Amino acid sequence: MHIVVVGAGIVGLSIAVGLAEAGAGVVVVDGGPPGARLTRTTFAWLNAGFLPVDRTYWGLRSGSLDAWHEASAGHPWFHAGGSLHLATAGGTEPDDRSAAWRAELRGWGEPIVALDAAAVHALEPALAGVTAVGGVAARLFRRDAWVETDGAIGHLVDRLLAAAGPGALRTGTPVARLEPGSGMPGVRLTSGETLHGDHVVVAAASDTPVLTGGGLVPVLAPDARGVPGLLVLTAPVAITVGRIVRRDDLVLRPAPGGRLLLQAGALDNDLRLDEPAATTDDRVRTLLARAAATLSRVDAPVAEQVTVAARALPPDGRPIVGWLDGARRTYVAVTHSGITLAPAIARIVIEDVLHGRRATDLDAYRPRAAPRA
Ligand SMILES: Cc1cc2nc3c(=O)[nH]c(=O)nc-3n(C[C@H](O)[C@H](O)[C@H](O)COP(=O)(O)OP(=O)(O)OC[C@H]3O[C@@H](n4cnc5c(N)ncnc54)[C@H](O)[C@@H]3O)c2cc1C
Repeated sequence: MHIVVVGAGIVGLSIAVGLAEAGAGVVVVDGGPPGARLTRTTFAWLNAGFLPVDRTYWGLRSGSLDAWHEASAGHPWFHAGGSLHLATAGGTEPDDRSAAWRAELRGWGEPIVALDAAAVHALEPALAGVTAVGGVAARLFRRDAWVETDGAIGHLVDRLLAAAGPGALRTGTPVARLEPGSGMPGVRLTSGETLHGDHVVVAAASDTPVLTGGGLVPVLAPDARGVPGLLVLTAPVAITVGRIVRRDDLVLRPAPGGRLLLQAGALDNDLRLDEPAATTDDRVRTLLARAAATLSRVDAPVAEQVTVAARALPPDGRPIVGWLDGARRTYVAVTHSGITLAPAIARIVIEDVLHGRRATDLDAYRPRAAPRA
C-alpha cells in the first residue's frame, strides 16, 4: 500500500511515521519545511485533562499523553515534570475547577496531586507569593509535559526517512489540488507533477478545507483561519521554572536557553490575526508583568519574540479525523491540541487506513458535512 500525506506538521509526520514503520509506502508533501507552521507557533503543552473534557475526549488525550511518554522519555526535547496549577492570592481554587470535576478526572485515572506551600517551594524555588487555600497551594497534574517541537519534528523526520527511504519527504512544492479521480487518487503539485497513492491523507491544518472543498469538513471557528492565540518568548531570565506553571491569569513554561514562554487564554479572547501592533504591545506588557509577579528575582523580563498564530480549531474544539468519501480515497486529520493528540491520531489512521478497520474511540469525531454543535 502506498499513501500520500499532505502536511509535514506534527500531525502529518506522526501519521506518516506510523504508516511507514508499519510497512506502508509513504510520501509526505509540504509547501514549506517540516514543522514550520502551527507546530512551531505553539505552547506545546501535552495534557489530558486541562481543557473541558468528557470521558471519550479525555480517553483520547490520555492515551496520546501516555504514548508521548513511552516514545519520547529520555530525548532532550521532551520535558516531563507535570504542570503546576497555583492557588491565587484572591483565594480561588488552585486550578479554578470544581472539586467534583477533579474527582471525576481522578476517577478516570488522571493523576492529580495536592501540594502544600513547602512542597511547591521544594519543587519550584523560583515561584514568588505562593499562597495556600485550605492547606493546598497548588495541584500538580503529574503526567503533563511539554516538547521543543523542532526537536520532536527532527526526530520524526529521521524515523520517516529511515523507514520509508530518502524520497519520503517532499518539501518546497505545495499541493495545488487533490485529484480523487476515478483511478488512483493523487495530489497535483503547483509544479504540475502528480503524485499518486492508494489513499491520500490530508493533515494541512487550517488549509485542509481549502484543499478538500470546504463543505466536507466543518468550518474552522470563528472563520476559516482559526482562533488566534498570543505567545511571548522572553529573553533569558535570572531564575526559571522546571515545568509548566499556571495561575489564574497566566501560563508559563521554561523555554530553551533559560527563557520563558508565556500565554494567557483570557488575553486571546478578542485577539485578531491582523491586530494592530500597539494593542498587541499592551497584551505583551501585561503578560510580562504577570510573569514578573509570579517569579522571584525576575523584575522585568523582556520580550524576545511575540507570535500571534491561529489555532486550527473545529467549532466544537474536537478533532475531525476520518474518510471524506465512501470510496476511501481521501482521509482528513485536523485537530486543535495537535501536539498532544498527534500520537493518538497516528494510531487511529493506521487502524483506519492501513488495516481497513474503524477505530471506535473516535466515532464522535468523524468528518461531517455540517458544523457540530
Ligand atoms: C497559540 C497556540 C498555542 C497552542 N498551544 C498548544 C498546546 O499547548 N498544546 C497542544 O497540544 N497544542 C497546542 N496548539 C495547537 C497545536 O500547535 C496544533 O494543533 C498543531 O501544531 C497542529 O499540527 P498540524 O500538523 O495539524 O498543523 P501544522 O503544523 O500547521 O502542519 C500543517 C502543514 O500543512 C502544510 N500545508 C498546508 N497547505 C498545504 C498545501 N496546499 N500543500 C502542501 N502542504 C500544505 C503546511 O505547510 C504545514 O506544514 C496551539 C496552537 C496555537 C496557535
